[in-house]
Amino acid sequence: MRDQQRDQQRDQQSREEFQPGMRRFFTRPRECAFCSDKSAKIEWKQVEVLRRYVSDEGKIRPRRQTGSCAKHQRELARAIKRARHMALLPFSGEVLR
Ligand SMILES: [Zn+2]
Repeated sequence: MRDQQRDQQRDQQSREEFQPGMRRFFTRPRECAFCSDKSAKIEWKQVEVLRRYVSDEGKIRPRRQTGSCAKHQRELARAIKRARHMALLPFSGEVLR
């Protein structure tokens, strides 16, 4: 009984934001930020921009959170990976400091 409860709690924690009423610190933009602003470019050098698309753990945030379209999400992912290679962003799974 108790073990089951603990498992359920752990499940809920790992799913985090997606529980109703538990959406934390992010609201999904209605439209892709890069489609609505055509002058905005996605480059690995723009760490400040990319940081918004990376979770606290350094993971690339999924499309359902960022609201960006498939095309720009792909570009974002590539830019983030490049930025990681240049040591501008952390890799996911890195120990939090
Ligand atoms: Zn877009």
